Order: sequence, then C-alpha cells, then structure tokens
Amino acid sequence: KLMKMPTPSMDSVKVAVRVRPFSQREKNSGSKCVISMHSRTTTTIQDPKNPEHVKTFTFDLAYWSHDGFQKDKDGVLISADPSSKFAGQRDVFHDLGRGILDSAWQGYNATLLAYGQTGSGKSYSMIGFGANQGIIPTVCEELFQATENQGRNQEHQVTFSMLEIYNEQIRDLLSRTKKPGGLRVREDQQLGFYVEGLKLVPCQNYAQIERLMEQGTKIRTTASTNMNASSSRSHLVITIQFKQVFLERDLTKQSSINLVDLAGSERQKSSGSEGDRLREGSRVNLSLTNLGNVISALADAAVGKKVLHVPYRDSLLTKLLQSALGGNSRTALIAAVSPADICYEETLSTLRYAERAK
Ligand code: ADP
Repeated sequence: KLMKMPTPSMDSVKVAVRVRPFSQREKNSGSKCVISMHSRTTTTIQDPKNPEHVKTFTFDLAYWSHDGFQKDKDGVLISADPSSKFAGQRDVFHDLGRGILDSAWQGYNATLLAYGQTGSGKSYSMIGFGANQGIIPTVCEELFQATENQGRNQEHQVTFSMLEIYNEQIRDLLSRTKKPGGLRVREDQQLGFYVEGLKLVPCQNYAQIERLMEQGTKIRTTASTNMNASSSRSHLVITIQFKQVFLERDLTKQSSINLVDLAGSERQKSSGSEGDRLREGSRVNLSLTNLGNVISALADAAVGKKVLHVPYRDSLLTKLLQSALGGNSRTALIAAVSPADICYEETLSTLRYAERAK
C-alpha cells in the first residue's frame, strides 16, 4: 500500500546565490569585484561601465566566498558587509541539502538545480572537488548514514541513475552502450514521464554511489571529447529514488531526489560560431528558458497568482522533472556567479533568471 501524502502548503522555490572566489585569470587581469552582499539575503551588482548603476536583488540566501572583507590577499578590492555569509560546502549543504533529505524521509520529491555561466561554480557546489565535497555526495552519504540508524522494522531501497541531456538527447551515463538518437522519454498514466531503458542501479552503501559517480563522470567526459563538445553544454541529472518500507504497517513511502547541474547559461556568440555549435547553443538556451518559465509559473502559483498552464512539455528536462517540480515537492535553485567585472553581463542575467524563480 502506498501511503498517500497530504499536499503541504506550497512553498515558493528556495533561491540561493553563491559567488565564487576570483579565478587566477581574473586576478591576473586585474579584475574588479562587482558583487557585494549585505546581510544574509541581499546581493547587489554594480555596472563596471557605470558605477552609479547598482542593482539590488533579494534571495533566500546569499553566499559569499572570500577570506577578507575589504581586500583579499592579492590586494583585490572586494566588498562584503561583515554580516554577509561566508559559505563553505558544509554551510550550503546545511541550508539546502538538509531540507532535501527531510522531504525524502517524509516521502516528498525534491529537486535542486545549479544555474550559471560556465566556470561560475555549479559543479563545485553540486559535486565539489577533492576534500571540498559538494551537495550531491553529501546528500547521498547522509542518506545512507540515516538509514543505518533506523530500527529493524523498516527497510530502505535506494537506486541511483545518472544521465545527461545534450542537444535535447538523453544519454545514460551509467551505460557504455550509446543509443543513437538518445534514450526515449515515455509517458505513463501513473508514473508520469520516465526515460525508457535508463539504468537504475540499486545501492546498498555510499561507496557504491561514489563509484557510480566516478564512472558516469568518465563516460560524460569521454563522450563530450569524442563529439568535440564540452560537457558544459549539457545538463547533468542525477536521480536518487528512495523507498522506505514499514514492515509492520504494510506501508511504503517513496521519494525521488533530483540533483541537476545545468548547462552553462552563457549566450552563444553568433559571430564565429560554427553551425552545429550555434544550434547546440540555442537548444541549451531554449531549454534553460523553458525551465525558467516552468519555475516562474510555479513560483507564481505558490504566492496565489492564477496560473493556467505550466509548460512542462516544452523540453526534455522539464518533462523529466515534472513530478519533482511543484505540487508536493521541494525545489531549490543555486545561482552561481563570478565576482568579476568581466563577467558582469552574464552575472546580471543569472541574477535576473534567479529572480524569476521567487
Ligand atoms: P562550472 O561548473 O559552473 O563550470 P566550476 O564548478 O567548475 O564551474 O568552477 C570553476 C572553478 O572555480 C573551479 O576551479 C572551482 O574549483 C572554483 N570554484 C567555484 N566555486 C568555488 C567556491 N565556492 N569556492 C572555491 N572555489 C570555487
């Protein structure tokens, strides 16, 4: 018997902006900081060509990354209010990952998306590097830890899948055989949209997931090299299906956790772009725009505005996420940005995108 969950009062999408530290290249070119964060929620951005032009955005969370508050160790001027929040990986997990795990235990679906231009810190936040473990591994690790602490009258099943959407085609990152044209998305009356033939790997512990993620990342890198493309032009979607079986009560609770590292949001320049590249770029931009439309419609619905149509069917990504976006599921978006003046236009467009999600 599947437990019917009451629909919780719909929360709007939780939005966080995270500014990464200056890259070496930005430092070398003497780049200035155009972002400042005041309090835990306010982010401002200054137009480098017109310093009087300052725009203010308010999000649920604003994450600052720098060591100093006035100048960093290279003497680059950075501006942050001392009350703004310096965020390490653990902080971000605490604010966003915990909630996802809570929903999963309660039997609700959850989606966490990372949006931003290539190089802004999406993978760093989602996957992380070395000791700086990102949200995805931490969520998986803590999920297994928590299952170990449950009583004997509960059973848990965890399955893991990993796919990428490149050029509106789906590729299974846990399978070495590549299907020409990509995997098909099907619609089922009960299940909603699903990917036909996608590998769903049952996992007993975190170490297994770690290995799968390594495998998947390798396949993804090799595939993009072969196609002479970049993995920054594809969406990475990791899904954890979590099922709790309450043995004595003949009940189950089920949840799907979707963790999405979106394709780079940068506009493809028309000049100098090869035909294929351009088409690929515009498809990426279209699917990001469509995702923005869906999230924005959901955010409107959450504040009681009348929404006639949520355009889930307009792209593969939103089809796949339909059951985990809106309704009784929890959605969060991390907008990743560079602090540097040279990224001003892209950063502003990322902040605007994130603003529509509120
Ligand atoms: P994206 O996935 O958006 O293309 P990455 O996550 O690869 O960008 O980040 C680009 C570079 O910036 C990487 O070298 C990464 O280690 C570094 N970086 C990004 N965010 C942070 C952060 N919050 N703290 C420290 N380094 C970061």
